[in-house]
Amino acid sequence: MSSLTNPIKNQPNDSVFDLPPLSMEPEGLANDFKRYYAHTFGRDRDCHSAYYPYKALAITLRDRLMERWKVTRQSYDEAGSKRAYYLSLEFLMGRALSNAMLNLEVDGAVEKGLYNLGLELEEIASNEPDPGLGNGGLGRLAACFLDSCASLQLPVRGYGLRYEYGMFRQLVENGEQVEEPDHWLRDGNPWELERPEFTQRIQFGGRTESYTDQKGRTIVQWVDSHDVLAVPYDIPVPGYRNNTVNTLRLWKAAATDDFDLDEFNAGSYPESVAQKNAAEHITMVLYPNDASENGKELRLRQQFFLASASIKDVLRDWIRLHGADFSRFAELNCFQLNDTHPAVSVAELMRQLMDEHGLEWGEAWNITRHTMAYTNHTLLPEALERWPVRLFRQLLPRVLEIIFEINARFLAEVALRWPGDIDRQRRMSLIEEGYDPQVRMAYLAIVGSYSVNGVAALHSELLIEGLFRDFHDLWPAKFNNKTNGVTPRRWLAQCNPGLRTLLDETIGTDWVRDLDQLARLVPHAEDAAFRERWHQIKQDNKAQLAEHVAEICGVNFPLDAIFDVQVKRIHEYKRQLLNVLHVIHLYNRIKRGDTANWAPRCVLIGGKAAPGYVMAKQIIRLVNNVARVVNMDPSTEGLLRVAFVPDYRVSLMEVIAPGTDLSEQISTAGKEASGTGNMKFMMNGAITIGTLDGANIEIRDQVGEENFFLFGLTAAGVESRRHHYDPNGIIAGDPALMDVMNLLESGHFNQFEGGVFDQVILSVRNPHDPWMTAADFRGYIEAQEQAAAAYRDRERWVRMSILNAARSGHFSSDRTIGEYNRDIWRLTPVAPGR
Ligand SMILES: *Cc1c(COP(=O)(O)O)cnc(C)c1O
Repeated sequence: MSSLTNPIKNQPNDSVFDLPPLSMEPEGLANDFKRYYAHTFGRDRDCHSAYYPYKALAITLRDRLMERWKVTRQSYDEAGSKRAYYLSLEFLMGRALSNAMLNLEVDGAVEKGLYNLGLELEEIASNEPDPGLGNGGLGRLAACFLDSCASLQLPVRGYGLRYEYGMFRQLVENGEQVEEPDHWLRDGNPWELERPEFTQRIQFGGRTESYTDQKGRTIVQWVDSHDVLAVPYDIPVPGYRNNTVNTLRLWKAAATDDFDLDEFNAGSYPESVAQKNAAEHITMVLYPNDASENGKELRLRQQFFLASASIKDVLRDWIRLHGADFSRFAELNCFQLNDTHPAVSVAELMRQLMDEHGLEWGEAWNITRHTMAYTNHTLLPEALERWPVRLFRQLLPRVLEIIFEINARFLAEVALRWPGDIDRQRRMSLIEEGYDPQVRMAYLAIVGSYSVNGVAALHSELLIEGLFRDFHDLWPAKFNNKTNGVTPRRWLAQCNPGLRTLLDETIGTDWVRDLDQLARLVPHAEDAAFRERWHQIKQDNKAQLAEHVAEICGVNFPLDAIFDVQVKRIHEYKRQLLNVLHVIHLYNRIKRGDTANWAPRCVLIGGKAAPGYVMAKQIIRLVNNVARVVNMDPSTEGLLRVAFVPDYRVSLMEVIAPGTDLSEQISTAGKEASGTGNMKFMMNGAITIGTLDGANIEIRDQVGEENFFLFGLTAAGVESRRHHYDPNGIIAGDPALMDVMNLLESGHFNQFEGGVFDQVILSVRNPHDPWMTAADFRGYIEAQEQAAAAYRDRERWVRMSILNAARSGHFSSDRTIGEYNRDIWRLTPVAPGR
């Protein structure tokens, strides 16, 4: 019954949004929980699924985030100030529930409210899946950065992909890694909010057409493309107790309706559905390679899909707020590229500005090169992304034309600066010539960016001396360092409640926002009573970790032993193999009765190997076999235990870091760009045994050499040794290493599995071993002896532990983001008003 005078126009008026603030008290929270559980999800006393209590609690908390999310968004729009976008193919967020409770300051109230309903918070929280939309350090860095941006109230939005299957789950069967798909979305994701209204259309394939318009301008069109829809899902990112809630926007691929209609009308319904599947494959799975390129066409599709959808989204927002005038765009927007994975953004921003918004090359280029910033994450040559020109031509024909044009103009600039230096032009070209020419993604990123940074002081130094030397010669001011950091919310306050309480009582609560405050612990290291409390907290955390290890690995870790931990992706450069050689050396010492002044030790190793990385998988098998032999041998009782913990992931690290005494950071110098695991351990009072690599150097600078177990060649030493590296000579000259190699080569750890470790063993003896494992063995063994001696002196060890945590303030990602903002983004913080 509508009439012309009816005021209803199906557009909600403002009173729809006029809601009273939600309760943050135990009773109000519990009431919402009950309502969601019973009314929204329809569960009753016959429901025994542990998932629904979690889901009801997640929605209860999401409502509280939703209120603040809206206000934050509006405040950013009203402020009209500059924004940044963090583009990353990976966001390793970890669980959201306890982080939301901590940051909203309702952890206590929720616990109480649930307790009154006869429920235990910890039990409910344990049912949350741990989303693994990243491989390792690079993806986890993106997550820590989002936490810091929200906590610093910076208008930064994350853009990524909503993979249906995240990082595989790792099982160990008969000592070997077995991969299982991680269908983390099976039960839905209560934290995400689908935003179909912001769907974008992404082009692939087809061809280009150009014509000249009436004004004499060349117009290029990308035609006959096979389009895929990008549907955004928003995840709230709460700041620490500041009412800011930022956004992580993840894109899901979906088929367009039209492209299957043709097939459908032609009577081939199954084919049309199959095409729909092909479109949706783009965001089906995360590539499980850490620090190595993959080269698969689907991966390039993923990269372009993220770049194109995110840039379209940003331009849509720009036009909403500023209209189609792009003259101030570069002043008010900035894209940070997390490695070269989203580097195609440089060409895609050009394309959209020119082909979709009518800008001239010059204007578009000016905007692009003042808007893009690139972070490099590795020096390993196998990780440097290159894509075949032919693949680009087939998949992204218009983007390739633009890359060629960028390159032509860039090489002209190089020629002007170094006339006649053809070799330099060849070296610096965005296109690597050859039988199968390649696009060099890092060079595209450098040429198109106004800032290029490494992730630790040494790494940034090595970049400009090596890989990017020519570019540094041309544009020295572009290059800078931003040493990584980790968020103290998740990696201290949340994962280590025992220590949090002690810190709060000792130095107040400001450290959570301002981690440099931890330095105020330094004098307390001299207080015996304080040391005793510190020690007790560490022992409690070790007990929790030991419980985990016993349950999962069936290995008992005695609490009086050093908990010696190496958890990270399995890679030869990280040298888990060196760790194993040390374990075998300790085993040999036990067998020969050389155990005077022994410090009992529990060695824990964990990490995933890329499914196609044979050596890494062999290393996992070796760790497991060595663990079995050592743990079964009665003579090791009370002296040595070894375990491989499967399925290393964020939620597992939250148990491991607080319970670790000794943090293994033993990569070949010059190979680990930064490391961030090293920082999490330090914050939780572990002492590092490590090489002068990545951020280890800065950790040692902060904590002092007396509180760090250093060993090994320097990065320069590694490079100069390469020419005369003689591992067999080293082995022959070191009886301990000789014994280790003999035992390995005798097949002691593979009695019924002949030859399975041949490759790993040979790698140690290989004069071309890029990781120089044998070269650092002696130094490593000696540093481990120093660590054991320090551990036997409990007062000394606890003092060192306190000083490590006290000096970890520098490694807060708040410091890192502060530097990104000061030097690269230049954003003004915006506090959400009402
Ligand atoms: C911190 C972290 C990493 C990075 O560890 P590194 O030791 O720096 O390689 C990898 N994976 C997970 C789950 C992490 O939490």
